[in-house]
Amino acid sequence: MIVTKFGGSSLSCGTQFKKVKNIIEACPDREVVVVSALGRRESVDNKLTDLLYLLHAYVRHGVNHDQIWETITQRFYAIKQELELDVDLKGELDFLKSEMLAQKVSEDYLVSRGEYLTAKLMADYLGYDFVDARRLIIFHPNGSLNLDASKKAIEKHLPKGKKAVVPGFYGAYPNGEIKLLNRGGSDITGAVLAFGLNAVKYENWTDVPGVLLADPRVVKDPVTVPELSYEELGQLSYMGASVLHEETIYPIRNLNIPIHIKNTNDPEAAGTVIGGTQSHSTGIAGIAGKKNYTLLTIHKSYLAAEVGLLRKTLEIFERFQVHVEHCPTGIDHLGMIVATDAIQHCRFELLEALKNELSADKVRIKDGIVLLTVVGRKNTEAGLMTKVFSSLEKRKIPINLITQGPKGLHMILGIDDNDYHTAIQSLYEDLVI
Ligand code: ASP
Repeated sequence: MIVTKFGGSSLSCGTQFKKVKNIIEACPDREVVVVSALGRRESVDNKLTDLLYLLHAYVRHGVNHDQIWETITQRFYAIKQELELDVDLKGELDFLKSEMLAQKVSEDYLVSRGEYLTAKLMADYLGYDFVDARRLIIFHPNGSLNLDASKKAIEKHLPKGKKAVVPGFYGAYPNGEIKLLNRGGSDITGAVLAFGLNAVKYENWTDVPGVLLADPRVVKDPVTVPELSYEELGQLSYMGASVLHEETIYPIRNLNIPIHIKNTNDPEAAGTVIGGTQSHSTGIAGIAGKKNYTLLTIHKSYLAAEVGLLRKTLEIFERFQVHVEHCPTGIDHLGMIVATDAIQHCRFELLEALKNELSADKVRIKDGIVLLTVVGRKNTEAGLMTKVFSSLEKRKIPINLITQGPKGLHMILGIDDNDYHTAIQSLYEDLVI
């Protein structure tokens, strides 16, 4: 059986629902369907999840919420009417409103209703059972996902052969209280279900042709990568490529369940297969970049020889609860790359602590760093590094730092914010075309 997940853009209106139905009916193995909440119909529209967060804020602060409630409910009614569905939407919405007015709903609960009601509509439309994610996706009391308990629950509530629609993005604590995953978390719901059901494949249907070799906002019509390994995808999505939630691969990589990214608006297109057998993977796997990093450089003569200095430095960052992304080192200096946001609360105290506690000669801070990654492949020709450097050199783009993955398959370069577009375009031209 195949677990099939549809993102919000594949569910924005009745026309998109029809495309989903055609896709499901084209293959009887598509037994379990996961849905996000209704997405944007056009670029000026709102995602339902964003509206629900806003609704919760209005209710909490006692702001009149009639208008936003109307906007939200109309989105569901429009689909019910267009597709002539039987689902008792009025009953569901009246109940939700009464709970909301009695201040009985948490933010997580209210926001989860986007996926819940979308799944109710879709189950009715496909003639599948609705199975609530509250029963299937189980969290530990500390808020992390409990994969073992989820697997048991999935096996119990989704026996072999059952055709079901499951809402994405949420699950429950052992006491039944609803908890959301992170934004974009329906991808993870699909992966947990594929894991629990030992699916042959996890299909993730979206509105792009697959994983693109570079950011389409920077490079015009970049090529789609036909295949990626889990590791390559993990590296690219951690570094800013935004096709799948970066945690999607973890539940399924050990079972080697392939993820197939497909386009709901062009179902015949090949898409991208992640995992699987990797038959024609050549060239590079991708180029990605993430903005808003800060480089802190600790200068001290011959610090490379000082035993324990790295530990002491990391302990200071830990004390300020700042996650260090990379630490490029030299003989007399130690660099620490952190997200700029992460040090907003402690910028000056952190600099003080580094200078004093490490007896540093000086500590420099530089904002506006972009981290670029170029992910190679096992059989990428030697000399990728040279090509990357000469490409950036040709455009006179200074490199602030370099780190390389342990297997040499990917490298990370720190460059200035204003060089971002030129660097990506240049790398694409020199390494891909
Ligand atoms: N609807 C949620 C969001 O907008 C979850 C998802 O789409 O995966 O983040």
